[in-house]
Amino acid sequence: MHPDIANLDRIFCPAPTVRIDDPILPRGTTLWIKREDLLHPIISGNKWRKLKYVVDHALSIGCNHLVSMGGLYSNHLHALAYIGRKLGLKTTGIIRGERPIQSNATLQDIESWGMSTVFVSRSLYRKLREYKQWDSKPGKRYRGYWIPEGGCCPRAMTGVMEMVDDIPIEFQTIALACGTGTTLAGVTGALNPQQNALGFAVLKNAGFLNEDVKNLVTKSGNTIDQLPEILLHYHFGGFAKQSPSLTAFISEFETRTGIPLESIYTGKMMYGLYDLITTQENWQNQRIVAIHTGGLQGRRS
Ligand SMILES: *Cc1c(COP(=O)(O)O)cnc(C)c1O
Repeated sequence: MHPDIANLDRIFCPAPTVRIDDPILPRGTTLWIKREDLLHPIISGNKWRKLKYVVDHALSIGCNHLVSMGGLYSNHLHALAYIGRKLGLKTTGIIRGERPIQSNATLQDIESWGMSTVFVSRSLYRKLREYKQWDSKPGKRYRGYWIPEGGCCPRAMTGVMEMVDDIPIEFQTIALACGTGTTLAGVTGALNPQQNALGFAVLKNAGFLNEDVKNLVTKSGNTIDQLPEILLHYHFGGFAKQSPSLTAFISEFETRTGIPLESIYTGKMMYGLYDLITTQENWQNQRIVAIHTGGLQGRRS
């Protein structure tokens, strides 16, 4: 590992796996939460796990400019901008849509950390999703290292697998929210044959995830016994869509357990998981770990 990455790794806090003591859970179900949100006050959750070995690779080939893409509230660009700032690397963020008249907390942060932002049309943004290699055209254009949307590439999975190795308890099922499915693919690669992964898609019409996750797992060279199950119907209308029942669930969950969730990823995952556990018998009497993938910075705006 590049010494700068090793140094940065040292600033991260332990992300404990804690039991969720919640009176509304059925007896016999043991639910734990892996608090990746506590890893770091700024780069929380799965974004560091995914970026660690990607940025390490960029440094190892002498590249000091990281280029990536994301939405206006992107946790991924937020983490990347901060890492760039910490390591003294240039960063460029290609952002979907027009620059908003009023900035938001995420955008303010990333620009204050020195990320250059480029706003592109939605159609161009969609095209950029086709570039998957670090030496792809959009990166070369800025003489930089290209990181696909959400950090989605086989190298990202190594860091995610470390997160699973960091869980000190025995479990049968591990549940998490999926955007690009990169984290789910990494988690799946780290499981033993008795364990299974359960993904909750936060986008509408996310059937593509099955294929994407399968491809990622294959490309990373991991042999796995079974592909994860991905539930596609807990999206609440689509990415970043709100609903009163979701908002109520998140605030009641926090009141009962003291654990904060956000509505884009972790809230939907936990809502879906509770729905399964409380209504379907085959999900009861299990030892389940839910991953808190972080993203709480997004609660600000
Ligand atoms: C980005 C993100 C995810 C989704 O991760 P993928 O690897 O793209 O599936 C989940 N939770 C949070 C909080 C995120 O910021």
